[in-house]
Amino acid sequence: MGLTDITTRIAKAAKAADRDPSEIALIAVSKVQPNERVEAVLKEGHRCFGENRVQEAAGKWPTFRETYDGIDLHLIGPLQSNKSRQAFELFDMIHTLDRPKLAQTFARLAQEMGSCPQLFIQVNTGEEPQKAGITPAETDAFVAECRSLDLPVTGLMCIPPVDETPSLHFALLQKMAERNGLSQLSMGMSDDFEQAIAFGATHIRVGSALFGARVPPAE
Ligand SMILES: *Cc1c(COP(=O)(O)O)cnc(C)c1O
Repeated sequence: MGLTDITTRIAKAAKAADRDPSEIALIAVSKVQPNERVEAVLKEGHRCFGENRVQEAAGKWPTFRETYDGIDLHLIGPLQSNKSRQAFELFDMIHTLDRPKLAQTFARLAQEMGSCPQLFIQVNTGEEPQKAGITPAETDAFVAECRSLDLPVTGLMCIPPVDETPSLHFALLQKMAERNGLSQLSMGMSDDFEQAIAFGATHIRVGSALFGARVPPAE
């Protein structure tokens, strides 16, 4: 596929859901992709990208930023506390705020640096032991805790279990965001972004459908 195809599919899914496609951000997930593929998408005018590792992002995006204006970079992978400062410097949005300790680190850094990326709280909607995220039962309290720390939390993020119907998880996330007064939803990947759009996704994270298969595959 290519950028045009994905954009067309987003527009179709938005129309079917009676939504304005301009309220859906396409995060082009460039992890592990060769720089030529990433640059081709930059040359087409796309500016919104996602990476899952701080180290990898630090190795490629400062250089791209010297050439291309207006790059909007999203961290979509788990973050170790000791990489938070570097993440704050690199990313415009962090989708993986997933534990109280990280929230406290972010609050300290935000004070010290005088700014903070926009934040999504990652919810482990499938309650999978190997997956990061706040459990659904703890989410409301964690949102409140982040707010009391003055963190700019704007939405919720989830990665549904691979063997379950994603729509059930998208619907759950949408409900949780609504009752917490959060307007943004980071959900939907290559195989299910159209369903995510039907359930209100504002940020879809699309990698392989846009760039081709990852070589070597990540995770
Ligand atoms: C890799 C990744 C994606 C993109 O996956 P595709 O199936 O290639 O679209 C989306 N979200 C997260 C959190 C990822 O790690």
